[in-house]
Amino acid sequence: MAAALGDDAARAPAGKQVIGLIFGPPGSGKGTQAGRIEKEFGMSHLSTGEILRSEVAHGSAVGKEAARIMAAGDLVPDDLIDRIVESLLRRTDSSSSVLLDGFPRTVEQAKALDRMLADLNRNVDFVVALDVPEPMLVDRLLHRAAVEGRTDDTREAIMERMHEYRLRTAAVLDHYRRIGVPVAEVDGVGAVDEVFDRVRDEIKRVLEGKPQARGI
Ligand code: ADP
Repeated sequence: MAAALGDDAARAPAGKQVIGLIFGPPGSGKGTQAGRIEKEFGMSHLSTGEILRSEVAHGSAVGKEAARIMAAGDLVPDDLIDRIVESLLRRTDSSSSVLLDGFPRTVEQAKALDRMLADLNRNVDFVVALDVPEPMLVDRLLHRAAVEGRTDDTREAIMERMHEYRLRTAAVLDHYRRIGVPVAEVDGVGAVDEVFDRVRDEIKRVLEGKPQARGI
């Protein structure tokens, strides 16, 4: 079991609000771990996938543009997603720690994020990258398809999302390593609580400024 939320939960040092990224291929458990991180570390979870799915459900202009792209497993255009994230970040400006999930997904988005954050006098403080072998990812997503019925959990869309991840998203980690942001690679295989124990240890290490066990 993961430790319950308690007084000893690591928090960002007083006055310093952090920006973290939860990163990983489709099906790696980002959303699930993000929910745990949100509670444990008092961060606001901002998932671009969830935001887009809600836009689709509401039939907004953004939703109409994104629906078909998402169902095919492709990435929505950078400028559209950049605008959404920028307006949300401006609203949370300096008042809270933020955990981004599903963004940035391309090196261009990462550079746009760096610019947005520089404008707000902030920066990415850490990246936690979940590592799960691809055959297991596909199994997890097909299982989720049966349970949740997400339009992009068809075998074809799953393969396309894996392809996009390998082609465009994996390079985002190198971008952060290059600019000196701590990147912690965490083994994402195992029970949710076990994975969260590893995730929590890595985030604590970063927040306390200690060197990491793995990663950079
Ligand atoms: P998963 O990680 O399982 O693919 P997400 O909920 O993060 O699920 O994303 C679902 C879909 O939403 C993606 O396949 C893509 O079409 C779209 N999407 C989410 N975030 C982005 C982004 N940052 N850039 C482009 N498209 C995105």
